[in-house]
Amino acid sequence: MRSGSSEELGSGLEQRHGHRSLGTGADSAGCVYSRASAGCLVPSVEHMPTTRDYYEVLSVERNADGDEIKRAYRRLAMKYHPDRNPGDPEAEAAFKECAEAYEVLSDENKRKIYDQYGHEGLRGHGAAAHDFTRMNPEDIFSMFNDIFGGGRSRGGRRVARGYDLETEVQITLNDVLEGTERDVEFTRMDVCDTCSGSGAKPGSTPETCSTCGGQGKVQQAGLGGMFRMVTTCPHCRGRGTVVKEKCETCRGKGRISKPRSLSVRIPAGIHDGQVVRVQGEGEPPPAEISPTGEGVRGDLHVVVRIKEHEFFEREGDNLLVAVPIGFTQASLGAEIEVPTLEGRHTLKVPAGTQHGAIFRIKDKGLPNLRSSRRGDLIAITNIEIPKKLSKTQEKLLREFAETEDKNVLPESHGFLDKLKDMFGG
Ligand SMILES: [Zn+2]
Ligand SMILES: [Zn+2]
Repeated sequence: MRSGSSEELGSGLEQRHGHRSLGTGADSAGCVYSRASAGCLVPSVEHMPTTRDYYEVLSVERNADGDEIKRAYRRLAMKYHPDRNPGDPEAEAAFKECAEAYEVLSDENKRKIYDQYGHEGLRGHGAAAHDFTRMNPEDIFSMFNDIFGGGRSRGGRRVARGYDLETEVQITLNDVLEGTERDVEFTRMDVCDTCSGSGAKPGSTPETCSTCGGQGKVQQAGLGGMFRMVTTCPHCRGRGTVVKEKCETCRGKGRISKPRSLSVRIPAGIHDGQVVRVQGEGEPPPAEISPTGEGVRGDLHVVVRIKEHEFFEREGDNLLVAVPIGFTQASLGAEIEVPTLEGRHTLKVPAGTQHGAIFRIKDKGLPNLRSSRRGDLIAITNIEIPKKLSKTQEKLLREFAETEDKNVLPESHGFLDKLKDMFGG
């Protein structure tokens, strides 16, 4: 979300109300941002307590549930995060204010006290306002990880999850009709068997990282010491251990590229570009997070591509096919053969059939992916005019033309004869 658009929204909001609008509880992101910037940065001294109402700060209703509060905080924290606003004291102040509000409202007990007694009530309950050292930075940063696609946060604890992989298979329309099974081959980064993912040479053990003391994370003082920031340890890249003697198989990475082959069932009725997801066939969690690969594997996404067919074109669950018919067949009516995916089908074409006429052959299309109901085969006539006529044919056609009373070109020599005439050959 860009802050530019929210600012525009914000100015519109201010104009409508004629003054700074606070705590109306609107839940749109634009309003949230605009109010936070207009409201929390320039508080009017007469009306505002030194600490703003926490619900106002996060722009949530008083009955907002935990998820809403978390979402609101995340949005604002992203916006005012010091990393995004270097050297901006107003953003820093807003960030602190939001974090404080979140700390209280995300805690059931503190929220209850706050609802009943306000800011006063929280003093003496160990949650004095502006006590940033009491804030749990882990919690905040796990939420950022969540946003940035790091780990998934569930109940506050991160579940290590590996990357998803993607591969492609090509199938035919006949496969779509029946469904098929394909052997899919791909490579993925997997736990190194030699070192079981530790990256250390067998016999040697990784040593505890001296920079982070094995935590994998380091705390840095931010905001002039008022706020602690926890970042991944730059020395061990979050592992908490440092490998002195590297495993030769994986060169200390703990992961090696391994080929993998598995059979994937592709359901009948699938469409081009659709994806079959094979759960748990992706990569194990990265070695930095889970050296042994413990955790949840990512998924394998198999993108299905359908080869173009010589005759048939697909339209949803229907198949279209152009059927050539002679002009005499079209004029007089005929039984013609239409190709289907399962062999030939005899179609009766009435006399006087036009070019581009459409005949629907029921249930000879493709099965629906969900219902398995077959679509139709739609035959479109393509009337062919003979390129060459025999003497007899031409004679008969000329007689026919006379009955129509239409002007036709006179009998002509062949092309070569004309050339000869032209050049006197
Ligand atoms: Zn290894
Ligand atoms: Zn470290």
